[in-house]
Amino acid sequence: MNIVLLGPPGSGKGTQAEKLSDKLNLLYLQTGDLAREWAEKNKRIKSIIESGKLIPEKEMTAFVMQYLEETVPPERDILFEGFPRFVSQFKSYQEWLTKRGKKIDAVIFLDSSEGAIIKRLSARRICDKCGEVYNLVTNPPKNKRVCDKCGGRLILRKDDNPDSIRIRFKYYHGNTQKLIEYLDRKGLVIKVNADRPIEVIFKDILKKLGVKSDRN
Ligand code: AMP
Repeated sequence: MNIVLLGPPGSGKGTQAEKLSDKLNLLYLQTGDLAREWAEKNKRIKSIIESGKLIPEKEMTAFVMQYLEETVPPERDILFEGFPRFVSQFKSYQEWLTKRGKKIDAVIFLDSSEGAIIKRLSARRICDKCGEVYNLVTNPPKNKRVCDKCGGRLILRKDDNPDSIRIRFKYYHGNTQKLIEYLDRKGLVIKVNADRPIEVIFKDILKKLGVKSDRN
């Protein structure tokens, strides 16, 4: 099952993506992470990301398509987060899957209110060593400055500052929302209320996908 996970910044996509890819044995790809790796070798990309802007649509598509071609084994199904963000990116991804005899089986839209998102993003911390993501309110580490997994330092993501959050929202409303409307018109979108506890959202997603959840 190839799944695309969509939603505004801070709607909990990463958390649900990890749980879903574990449960369904999918290859979890997050273009934000791929872009941050790219940024380590490219100052222009670094400054785009840190400002909260998007990498130009076609440049990002070419980068992702090359990555897919070079790294994804033909038999693996993908859970994509952060891509596509534009209708054109959706079409390119669909074409790539078609060539492999596959398709996008589900598009999940995590619907969240702006108030809940701002609270969530300002409480998000990531480990500067292993990249583990925490939330000081909903998924707190034992010590708010130290990663439970590797002992690394917990920091605020550079683009989780109020100015960058505002810009990321602007891009979200300008692009991803149009993509969601486009997919919704085609009847492809599974909408899930993301202003609820992590486990409740996860069970709801599984139910809507027709997958049995574990008892606990
Ligand atoms: P994210 O972690 O998904 O918020 O992505 C972090 C940053 O990576 C974004 O603000 C963009 O600069 C870049 N990025 C990730 N995915 C895309 C995409 N599909 N198109 C353009 N830029 C992207």
